[in-house]
Amino acid sequence: MSHILIVILAGTISLFLSFFLRVKAKDAPGVQSYIKVTLLSSIFTFAYAFELASTSLTEMKFWLGIEYLAMPFIPVFVLFMCLEYVGYKIKTWIYTLFVIPITTVFMMQTNDLHHLYYKSMRINNNGPFPLLELEWGPWFYVHAISLLLCLTISILVLLKEYRKSLFLFRMQTALMVAGLLTPIIANYFYLNGSSNGIDVGPISLSITFLFHGVALLSLKMFNVAPIARESVFESLTEGIIVLNQNRVVVDFNKAILNVIPNIMPHHIGKPIAEVLSKNPILWSNLDEEVECGYTSILEGRATHFRVNFSEVLNKSGLLVGKIITFVNVTEKVQMEEKLKQLASMDGLTQIFNRTFFMRKSEMIFDELMRSGGSISVIMFDIDYFKRINDTFGHEAGDRVLTRVTSVVKEYLLVKDCIGRYGGEEFVICMPETSLIEATNRANIIRQAIAESSTIVNGEEIVVTSSFGISNVMLEVWNDSYSIPQLIREADQALYAAKHKGRNRVEIYEVNEHLVEL
Ligand code: GH3
Ligand code: MG
Ligand code: MG
Repeated sequence: MSHILIVILAGTISLFLSFFLRVKAKDAPGVQSYIKVTLLSSIFTFAYAFELASTSLTEMKFWLGIEYLAMPFIPVFVLFMCLEYVGYKIKTWIYTLFVIPITTVFMMQTNDLHHLYYKSMRINNNGPFPLLELEWGPWFYVHAISLLLCLTISILVLLKEYRKSLFLFRMQTALMVAGLLTPIIANYFYLNGSSNGIDVGPISLSITFLFHGVALLSLKMFNVAPIARESVFESLTEGIIVLNQNRVVVDFNKAILNVIPNIMPHHIGKPIAEVLSKNPILWSNLDEEVECGYTSILEGRATHFRVNFSEVLNKSGLLVGKIITFVNVTEKVQMEEKLKQLASMDGLTQIFNRTFFMRKSEMIFDELMRSGGSISVIMFDIDYFKRINDTFGHEAGDRVLTRVTSVVKEYLLVKDCIGRYGGEEFVICMPETSLIEATNRANIIRQAIAESSTIVNGEEIVVTSSFGISNVMLEVWNDSYSIPQLIREADQALYAAKHKGRNRVEIYEVNEHLVEL
């Protein structure tokens, strides 16, 4: 009796699963076929229970006939379920697969006329309970092979999905595969006689559908087909990495490769600290878990990212993980830099404007103050520039200004900083430059300006300039000097240069300054 009870239990499980999934997850992919397959399976299993309970051949044959109304369709619906599960749209031609189960039903019901399904059927009363002994006919093999084919194709479909599916969905796909392997293994035991002649197929089917039920139910929790979810996740241009509460990598998408080029699928399951062991800067950013910026250098090009953190909460509101999103903001950053540059540059001469020169030279000054050193400021002004404007016109004057700045730029060092201080008045900050050096360089520049010319409308315009220099030897953290002070002094020296006849370099001297005061 106990064997009949087990079969009834198996049928009840299938029936329960059918209703449970209908209520709980009818929208999840594959569930529609799952409901059909579990219903068919419960019919098959209950009929088998009746077959086991029967004592006469007529009774047994009757219940076998009922089993065969349901069972041949199960493998086809299983295949449908797997195809739907991986997101395959069932096309009309696939319904031709039903030809085989329909023929099986027909063959089975008319077996007495042709014996093509079972060559013979007899009752075996030798065991502890009567069992039907069946000798297989040719169509039985067609049925068995088609059943095996359906299961094999289903497994292949799932394995293909497993290979490309995300970590989150792999568990479910593995469960689906495990479910399909159960009846194959069970059949193996049935055929080699370990099951005492009891067909373990119906029992194993309930186990199959338990596996499938869990897989499909958990899919329902994500509420999206794995394919759809995966394509959304993968097509995002934002790099995404999912961590669990222990900061272990749970998932990531393709776009994250732009941020972490060396991340590999085998890093899933590893702590993020370990994955980023070669990238301490990014790790220190992520460790803080606050929105921040991150710049990665890929093939020599800087890519800027905005890093966002969002919490993953479970149904009870408990924190179960973090989603880290990297939004590429390179274009925005480049635009901001461009705007900053535009705001800092003088439009005509393409050197720093006054405001930006002040800021930049003050930074140079502060930097130098940390170590100490000599700093010089040169101020120069074009001589008799009004005359140029008056003689050749304002536009020609502009061309001269551009020409003069480009000549001066050729004589500057990387550490120097030049700005347009006023109309045709310029200022150069030279860190780590002694007074003598600055004077020599100013004279070289002065000469270069005087020797250069601007051709406007076929006419050669030559200008000279006057230079004023100030210098201070900075001592560490002695803030008695400043850039504005140096500029004031250079301006006074420039004034002296103009006074003494122009096209010359003058140095600011304290005593002279005092005398003049
Ligand atoms: P000095 O030798 O004493 O410097 O004589 P100067 O004529 O050069 O006198 P000052 O430096 O005071 O004159 C500046 C003139 O430069 C006034 C203005 O007409 C001209 N200027 C200022 N900015 C521009 C500019 O952007 N373009 C042109 N074309 N002229 C400018
Ligand atoms: Mg001038
Ligand atoms: Mg001037």
